[in-house]
Amino acid sequence: MEAGRVLIGEEEIAARLREMGEQITRDYEGEALLVVGVLRGAFMVMADLARHIRLPVEFDFMAVSSYGSATKTSGVVRILKDLDEEIAGRHVLLVEDIVDSGLTIDYLLKTLRLRRPASIELATLLVKENMQRVPVEVRYAGFEIGPEFVVGYGLDFDQLYRNLPYIGVLEQHSL
Ligand code: 5GP
Repeated sequence: MEAGRVLIGEEEIAARLREMGEQITRDYEGEALLVVGVLRGAFMVMADLARHIRLPVEFDFMAVSSYGSATKTSGVVRILKDLDEEIAGRHVLLVEDIVDSGLTIDYLLKTLRLRRPASIELATLLVKENMQRVPVEVRYAGFEIGPEFVVGYGLDFDQLYRNLPYIGVLEQHSL
């Protein structure tokens, strides 16, 4: 399956996730961590990042969908699946595939903070250039990218391309 141009290759992603995992391991030394993946896009980042976190780690998932067209988020987030675990008093690391406007993650952070975790931080593979970004603190960011629409490594277009092992830019003819 072709998906246009490779923006970030497989090896580059692997190296960066390793660095991020090592950083997380250092930052949370002596603590246990609840890693929360935001479905569906974050499944691949979460699996590969977690392999480099050397701490007692538990996993949970949330599934959200943002209302809007296929390529633009509206900021209205619907929780399709909530956490199974209680997070009060726990260190939570939210894992995302991409932060664009920041609206999805802003909503999730606000919702989860009401449950009084000991801490909550965000790790994302990609941060997209966006002039309209709401201010969200991204503690662990893999790569900053331009405003183009990307697929692969968990990210879809119309539910396809999530399995690509790299981040690619869809070109008009491949849509
Ligand atoms: P935000 O709320 O930060 O604008 O957008 C977050 C969500 O929008 C992401 O979790 C993802 O589902 C979707 N999104 C934003 N930019 C892209 C992109 O370039 N490619 C894909 N596949 N999804 C994107």
